[in-house]
Amino acid sequence: MKILVVNAGSSSLKYQVLEPETGTLFAKGICESIGNTEASMITHQQVVKDIKIKDQHYPMENHAVALKLVVEKLLDKELGCIESMDEIEAVGHRVVHGGAFFSESMLLTDEVLEKLKLCHDFAPLHTPAHIQGIQGCLAVMPDKPQVLVFDTAFHQSMAPEAYTYALPYELYEKYGVRRYGAHGTSHRFVAGEMCKILGRTEGTKIVTCHIGNGSSISAVKDGKVMDTSMGFTPLAGVEMGTRCGDIDPALVPYMMEKLNLSGAEVNNLMNKKSGFLGISGFSSDSRDLENAIANGPSDPHYERANLAVNILKFQLKKYIGAYSAIMNGLDAVVFTAGIGENNPHLREIVCEDMEYFGIKINKELNAKTLRQPNIVKLSTDDSKVAVYLIPTNEELVIARDTAAIVSAAK
Ligand code: ADP
Repeated sequence: MKILVVNAGSSSLKYQVLEPETGTLFAKGICESIGNTEASMITHQQVVKDIKIKDQHYPMENHAVALKLVVEKLLDKELGCIESMDEIEAVGHRVVHGGAFFSESMLLTDEVLEKLKLCHDFAPLHTPAHIQGIQGCLAVMPDKPQVLVFDTAFHQSMAPEAYTYALPYELYEKYGVRRYGAHGTSHRFVAGEMCKILGRTEGTKIVTCHIGNGSSISAVKDGKVMDTSMGFTPLAGVEMGTRCGDIDPALVPYMMEKLNLSGAEVNNLMNKKSGFLGISGFSSDSRDLENAIANGPSDPHYERANLAVNILKFQLKKYIGAYSAIMNGLDAVVFTAGIGENNPHLREIVCEDMEYFGIKINKELNAKTLRQPNIVKLSTDDSKVAVYLIPTNEELVIARDTAAIVSAAK
């Protein structure tokens, strides 16, 4: 059985064809600049044969046209991975925000689509794009069941005390103002893998650190999220590539006044000009910061690159401590995503001076663990808390949910 996984953005559409049982990836690609027929292009890779076409121009006026092209590529003798569309059992969609409506993945129905439309205000850029992706699939492959997998769903297990902001309660009741979190599919995958390693789900206390361009930390107890660092939007929590994470909320009106900016402009400053980029003054990419740090004080960016990385380190330590307190213990810390999987320096400084929590890692092993696809135990055998690197695989979760929901519906 093969599943087509679709991740539709406002002007892009990423896709993968996967076998959910084995996790085998057959093909993947991305359509970009959809809506701009002059610039739109596709990059497609047949993974098994390792054949790739890059930036090939095709006029794509909308997501339906892009999906038609994707189907063409998948059926192509040379570049494809299927002989007929019958081999594709169903389509699984990544959906960024499911509001408080969706606490699990759902088979697409008219009612589900209507509820998804109500999530618009929570993710105004993503929701219309997802709907276009879904409608594109309905147009191009009307007989295929479609399943929606929500990034927020795994966080729906939080208790009201974790998700409610101490604002006037009507804001929650009228507008759904509360913590929703993000990256739920990734937290769910790595927490699930960690539970398999621990040999149990009940009684487990895990902190999952998804650290990439966007970063979020979750407290996962008994396999369920107790708290997560992102909030009403993905701006909250720790310092990120270009996002500031948590700040004093009174800074928003302060910056509006001092810098003579509108609310939208301050929002842009906090989302696009802050984080690693804002602090270092030169890059949002952790590789650039690490290079500047490795060069030492003679590098003109050394000091602020170091500060940017140390801010994140400090915040991660605080989250590990706070989440251990709310879970009343800690069995494991998991690092995942671009930085979590590939930045040994950050992992090392986060785990340093954490003996009180029972965290001890093998520094040599940690230092050489990057750019590799395997689960790696980084903690020493005498560490009370297990520390693992678990490469995330959100597409596999989407493919598995899709397969399970479609077979249950048969
Ligand atoms: P996104 O949140 O956009 O999915 P990623 O999870 O890909 O982002 O994380 C991007 C960050 O991870 C960047 O700061 C980058 O430096 C780092 N990163 C990603 N891949 C690597 C790699 N192979 N080696 C070192 N750093 C990497």
